[in-house]
Amino acid sequence: MIVTKEKPVEEILEYLAPYKNVLVLGCDGCTQPPRGLKQAKMYAMLIEMAAKLRHKDIKCRAATVAMQCDNYLCSSTVHPQLEGVDAVLSLACGIGVQTFAEVFPDVPVYPGQDTVFAGSQERENGKLYERCKACGDCLLGETGGICPVTACAKGLMNGPCGGCVEGKCEVPYEIRDEKGEVIKMIERDCAWYRIYERLKKLGRLDLYRKYRSPRDRAVSAWPRLLEGV
Ligand code: SF4
Ligand code: SF4
Repeated sequence: MIVTKEKPVEEILEYLAPYKNVLVLGCDGCTQPPRGLKQAKMYAMLIEMAAKLRHKDIKCRAATVAMQCDNYLCSSTVHPQLEGVDAVLSLACGIGVQTFAEVFPDVPVYPGQDTVFAGSQERENGKLYERCKACGDCLLGETGGICPVTACAKGLMNGPCGGCVEGKCEVPYEIRDEKGEVIKMIERDCAWYRIYERLKKLGRLDLYRKYRSPRDRAVSAWPRLLEGV
């Protein structure tokens, strides 16, 4: 899933300042936390109230798209919703916002979210972990299903490095507040220690011993294009 976090209301109001009629557009795709119709309605109310408190008049409507990153769905679902709309606030990830901008080049669109990473959800603890950087050359078959590109702080192809102490990485998770200040550091497991343990359990330490050469960065040079889909 694509993990996003809400942009501050002040930033959103700054984007929307020149407009009177705004469509808040959710996405029912893989955005996490969910940003569908319910959230679009909440945002619409919040923006109207926040604008009123600042003596501004913004009228918001809410709608949603099954997948904002699909140009056909985006076009067919949103087209009928655009009458009388001056601008759109998209609750999709950055891909959805860009798809909208391509499909409707004459309609101003603004992001309501910051797109953070592609992650996996741990429901019990309400946590989202980054899991894939879409590197274009997946290694999981050699690493016991644990991605060193994402889970190793140094993205090492062969590890662990000298910073692994008792299975822990020398680089902790950094939790930041809205201003980007680090408010908490959380210890994390060394990716390569985990890879070793998992491959050992699977009886595949032969894969661990295999030397992996440095990554071919050309594979993930951007922007990328995939044909024939
Ligand atoms: S190796 Fe990691 S970053 Fe690359 S595709 Fe696989 S999971 Fe994603
Ligand atoms: S300690 Fe492990 S996870 Fe951390 S940078 Fe070194 S090899 Fe990567």
